[in-house]
This record gives sequence, C-alpha cells and structure tokens, in this order.
Amino acid sequence: MQLIASTYTLVLGLGIAGQACARHLLSHGVPVQLADTRAAVDVAALLADYPGVVCRTGDQVDAAWVAQASEVVVSPGIALNDPLLEQARSREVPLIGELDLLRRAAPDLDIVAITGTNGKSTVTTLVGKMLAACGRRVAVGGNLGRPMLDLLNDGADCLVLELSSFQLERARPFGPRVATVLNMSPDHLDRHGDMPSYYKAKHRIFSGASACVVNFEDALSRPLVGENLKMVEFSLYASDFHRFGVEGQGDHRAIYFRLKPLIKVNELAMVGDHNLANAMAALGVVQALDLDLAPALDVLKQFAGLPHRGVVCGRVNGAICVNDSKGTNEGASIAALTGLASALPGRVFLLAGGDGKGADFSALAKAVQRVDAQLIGFGRDGQQIVDAAGRGQRVETLAQALDAALVDAADGDAVLLSPACASFDQFASYLARGEQFEALVSARAVAQ
Ligand code: ADP
Repeated sequence: MQLIASTYTLVLGLGIAGQACARHLLSHGVPVQLADTRAAVDVAALLADYPGVVCRTGDQVDAAWVAQASEVVVSPGIALNDPLLEQARSREVPLIGELDLLRRAAPDLDIVAITGTNGKSTVTTLVGKMLAACGRRVAVGGNLGRPMLDLLNDGADCLVLELSSFQLERARPFGPRVATVLNMSPDHLDRHGDMPSYYKAKHRIFSGASACVVNFEDALSRPLVGENLKMVEFSLYASDFHRFGVEGQGDHRAIYFRLKPLIKVNELAMVGDHNLANAMAALGVVQALDLDLAPALDVLKQFAGLPHRGVVCGRVNGAICVNDSKGTNEGASIAALTGLASALPGRVFLLAGGDGKGADFSALAKAVQRVDAQLIGFGRDGQQIVDAAGRGQRVETLAQALDAALVDAADGDAVLLSPACASFDQFASYLARGEQFEALVSARAVAQ
C-alpha cells in the first residue's frame, strides 16, 4: 500500500482568530480543512464564502484525523499538551499559531508586541493612539479586538499587538521591533501549571526583539537578553520613565524622562498608580521607537481608560460603585483595590469571586487586610477568597453581593467589583459580568 501524503493545512479552533487564520490561508489559495472540538460553532459565514471546505466539529475531531494534516494551525485555546495533538506531534506535523502565519505573510513589518499579566489592553490601546499621533500608520489588535491576521488588510506600517501567554507559548521567534512584559503575577496557573511555565510562555515575546521596555520594579518582567539590546525602563520610583514628587502633593507630581519633567500626574485622564505605570510603559515604547514624545503626552491627557476597567458607574447611598470586571486575577484586583483605597476617605467594599483559575488568593487576602476592605465573595470560588482573607461573607450571585455591600456602604465609601477571577462559572464573559453590575447599580440608584 502506498501512503499519499496529505497537503492541506488544518485550522484547529474556529473562534474569531481561527476563522481569521482560515480566511487568510484560503484567500491565498492554500488548501485548508477546518476543525473545532465544540459541536456548536458558528462558521456559516466562512463556509458561505468558501463552499466545499471540509469542516469537522465536536466528536468528528479526533487525534488520528488531526495528525493527517501537513500542518496544523492550533488555536491558543488548546494547550500544548492536549491529547488531541499527541499523534500529530509524534508524526512531527508542524504545530503553528497565528503569529507564525503573520510572520510568514509579513516578514519585515514592524511589530510592537505587548504582554504581561495585567494592563495589556490598556497599554496596547494607548500605544496604538500614541503611534498614530506620531504619524505612524498603525493597526491594533491581537488578543484585544481584531485578530492579528485581519490587521494585514489595513496597509499599516506598524502593528501593535496585545499577546496572551496562550498565543505566545507555541510561537516561534517573530522579531518584534519593540517587546514588553508589563508585569508578572500569578494567573492562568490551571493551564500553565506553575509560575516558571507561565514566565517562559510570556518571555518568548523577546526572542529576536530589537528593543524592549522593562518594568524596573518587577524582576520577572526583565528579559534575559544581550546587553547591547536597546532597553527602556519604567517604574514609579527610579528609571528612564519615572514619577517624581512628594506624596500628598498631587499638583507637583509628574512623569519624568530621566531628569526631564514630561506631564503632571493630575493632567492624565486615567487614574491610579497602575495606570501611571501603564502610561509610562506606553511612553517607553514611543521612546524605544525614537519617536517624539510630545504627541504621545497629548494622548495621555485625553484617554480615560477602557470600559470595565476601574470605571465609576454610579452612586448608591452616597457610595461610588466601580466596575472593574476586567480584574480577573489577584494582581489586577490588588492594584484596583489598593489604588481606590488610597484615594478614598471611606471604606472599600470589595466584591470578588468566580472562577479562580487555580490561584490561592494569599496575596489578595493580604491586600484586603492591609487596606481593611469589607469583603463579599460570590460565585464558585468566592468562599475560597473569604477563607483566605479570614474575613467577609459569601453569597451566591453578583446581585446578592452588591446588595450585601449596600446594607452598610455610605457616603465616602466605594463598592468595587474587581473579582480576581474569570467569569465563566456564572457569566458568558467579563463583559457580561460588568454589564450586569452596571445595570444593577443603575437600578439600585433609581430605586433610592
Ligand atoms: P489585560 O488586557 O492584561 O487584562 P487591562 O488593561 O484590560 O489588562 O486591565 C485589566 C485589569 O487589570 C484592570 O481592570 C485593572 O484591574 C488591572 N490593571 C490594569 N493595569 C494594571 C497594571 N499595570 N498593574 C496591575 N493591574 C493592572
């Protein structure tokens, strides 16, 4: 019997990024087959544009069939060690990701690559706006907004990409013009196993980079690269970009580049120390590209942040209600909680819980105790957070958590939804969770 080698690329995982990969390959005449392990996946529009393309879903997808492809574009949602890929791996079928496809199609295009545990979307958006203000033709996307392969249709001269650890863990070196790991704290340990594996996945962003932007305060953000590589550092305290001024004298505090004052802290439209770090990281990228900082500073005066990230969405009983639904891990919620607590005269009621992704919540527990927050746990892992903190109460739903907070919250206090968890135990996404919170707050405010 003669074995005939197959010559098609299998796109495995048909979310928006997978479909963008499929469209990209099909539009370039590459033979493609499609697969998704979910039975209910919406590929109608794709199949209408490319009729006759083989598409298997649910139980029709098995390891033996996957291994028949000549190459597999694997969705970031599928872990490196997933048994579905075992046979393909043992047959040495190349397993690639969307970044590899992007680089194949555009080997010389400038890429600014941004990852980190928290602040990715904020910094990616800021950098996109800053580079546009500096006159670059930019397209912004990746893990945020549009899939990276769609960006190739924009005729941009620079891509600004938010990259997740899942997108990076199987990417080959892709040589970004500038790369940064904004910060590192425990997240996604259910998938990566432990911090060293999570670190390794994130740090693949630096392979082949021409310049990097480094968080001076976070040793785990520092790349192990040659000393001749251009490196721009940021930190609240002392580095290339830093904040200078006396605590409590808000008017005098400013972001500096080395000895040069750039912009007063109170001129920034975003608030909170974590957003100051985000602002400096974005300025660091502009500096690493040798562009003028002045237009970038104007962007900082305009951009007030993204929805669901520390947004004041109403006031009930005099207490402000803050939607930080995108606070999906301990590091994010600690930043949101401590930033808010230091800016308020009153107490913070923290609503936290959901799918904890394997975190132990010890760091969040310490922050809750340090700022003396009133803790209300909800959802699947709400009890675990309450237990770790040794204080607070647990309820089932977000609505009950808000109502429990509103029993006591008063003028000068804040009710902060920053769950430190993913939303999938009770919601379709962090967006749905944040929208529900905002709707509940509006309803309670009207009812007063
Ligand atoms: P990501 O895309 O990495 O999830 P976002 O910019 O969407 O980051 O912000 C998500 C959440 O992370 C925010 O709601 C806030 O709670 C927190 N956060 C934002 N920037 C930082 C930072 N630099 N350090 C720590 N936490 C942050």
